[in-house]
Amino acid sequence: MYDVVIVGAGSAGCVLAGRLTEDPRIRVLVLEAGPSDRKMEIKIPAAFAKLFKTPYDWDYSTAPQNGLDHRELYWPRGRTLGGSSSINTQMYVRGRPADFDAWALPAWSWERVRPLFSRMENDQRGRLGRGGPVHIAPLRDTNPATHAFVRAAVEAGLELVEDVNDPVREGVGYTPVTQRNGRRWSAADAYLHPAIRRPNLTVLTGAHARRVLFEGTRAVGVEYLKDGAVHLARVTGEVILSAGTVSSPQLLMLSGVGPAGHLRALGIEVVHDLPGVGRNLQDHVAVAVIVSSKQPVSLVAAESLPNLARFVLFRKGMLTSNVGEACAFVRTRPGLPGPDLELIFAPVPFVDHGLVKQEGHGLTIGAVALQPGSRGAIALRSTDPLDKPVISPNYLADPEDVRVLSEGVKLARRIFRTTAFQAFAGKDIEPGVEVQADADVQAFLRQQCETLYHPVGTCAMGTGREAVVDPELRVRGLQGLRVVDASVMPVITRGHTNAPTMMIAERAADLIRRSARDAAPFRPGPADRLPAGGAKPRVRPGS
Ligand SMILES: Cc1cc2nc3c(=O)[nH]c(=O)nc-3n(C[C@H](O)[C@H](O)[C@H](O)COP(=O)(O)OP(=O)(O)OC[C@H]3O[C@@H](n4cnc5c(N)ncnc54)[C@H](O)[C@@H]3O)c2cc1C
Repeated sequence: MYDVVIVGAGSAGCVLAGRLTEDPRIRVLVLEAGPSDRKMEIKIPAAFAKLFKTPYDWDYSTAPQNGLDHRELYWPRGRTLGGSSSINTQMYVRGRPADFDAWALPAWSWERVRPLFSRMENDQRGRLGRGGPVHIAPLRDTNPATHAFVRAAVEAGLELVEDVNDPVREGVGYTPVTQRNGRRWSAADAYLHPAIRRPNLTVLTGAHARRVLFEGTRAVGVEYLKDGAVHLARVTGEVILSAGTVSSPQLLMLSGVGPAGHLRALGIEVVHDLPGVGRNLQDHVAVAVIVSSKQPVSLVAAESLPNLARFVLFRKGMLTSNVGEACAFVRTRPGLPGPDLELIFAPVPFVDHGLVKQEGHGLTIGAVALQPGSRGAIALRSTDPLDKPVISPNYLADPEDVRVLSEGVKLARRIFRTTAFQAFAGKDIEPGVEVQADADVQAFLRQQCETLYHPVGTCAMGTGREAVVDPELRVRGLQGLRVVDASVMPVITRGHTNAPTMMIAERAADLIRRSARDAAPFRPGPADRLPAGGAKPRVRPGS
């Protein structure tokens, strides 16, 4: 019997599991669909693309995108302990103060969330919080072309900032990464593994949640599939969905919580009509501007035995690169409350998500629309929990997103042409010299834009009709059920989404512990009704 069942051991789920079980009275079960994270490619920072389209990845595709010449985009999401923090590019960016203030929820203002960031951080650079479980470090072996990019961006007019997380100053700087001693430091490393021996924590891997079970409007458990059998985990306190921006709304809808019309059309009995579930999907859309490299320094040379030896023996060399080694935050027009464009520098031709090995040396500046106006949705394809939902991000529906990215392409090209970059930047590869006219650049965007892997917003927090969770992350109109993950962000942050997701989970842990104290102690519920051969009460990750 558990007090709290957490679905998903990703960025948010790991924070919750670690923080909640600090209180020995709270018994926590974590259900994770993916396998354990004992895998070398997870630990090696530069190897993340090796995990794409493997059992460690949900390997989603979007629906054909009207704004992108009807292309279907590949969407990787982590499917293992640590979730997407186990396959991401490790960039640690909190977001700007204006992001949290724009949520317009007093408890989530910048002043209120800043202490939550600080308490989770352990910044080896000494600039952010110290003493928390999330290790943040500078890269150990910055590529020479990355130094040139930073100098070139300054030559192009950007301010050099010591820390891209500076809440006041904006400009170009080196990327802080979630790494410790040169290896990836996922949310599982920070929060889950240190807690794994606690007697009040049970983690099941290979456990795919199918739906939340209700008695009336109270969530009382989770039905999940493990080893080919259906099991039931009953809960005396709360069910927490931390399955991410794709799966949390999918699970709600499969459980009868969502837009009533959509659910009825699929024959799902409606437990609660919540029209906002699955809507408000936002993502950072990005395009790569690529030149050849005059010097053979780029990461196309990373995959070699000497580099592997350097990594294994000294935790140094190209394999410690997170690929996105430097970044810049820029305002494309005056009067904005924060930057609307990010440039990310990668000392490699970053093509097709890194899935295809490149032969020639090259350099990439990725331009990212930081505050996209386009909004999409996630809907059920069928009532089969193993079926992937329909993902429609509606990329480039808002002309402002096209304008910002066009500005990004121009600025990236200007940076490549600076004196500071001349020792490295060679011939234009993408978009190619012939693409100069505005219409051609826009056509290039529609042909080439990809996800920056930051979907949020499908179970948005708020108080209006479309809000799915209230400011304490409780699913509106129901009891005993919260959503805690990137899906609750009402508006996407101007940065990268891992840090704000973990911050949200830090706050959620406080809220859940407070509820547990108020109910003190959680009332014992009916014993788990596990079928014969079902899940053992305690299984460590490793399956
Ligand atoms: C390739 C890539 C690169 C990225 N780079 C960066 C970066 O450099 N910096 C940054 O800040 N952010 C980055 N991100 C984004 C960031 O990692 C995510 O925003 C963040 O991890 C989301 O956390 P989450 O808890 O919402 O979801 P996730 O971390 O995705 O966790 C969801 C978990 O739930 C599990 N799950 C899903 N469905 C079920 C089910 N039915 N039953 C049981 N378990 C289930 C999943 O397997 C997963 O473990 C990147 C993401 C990707 C994919």
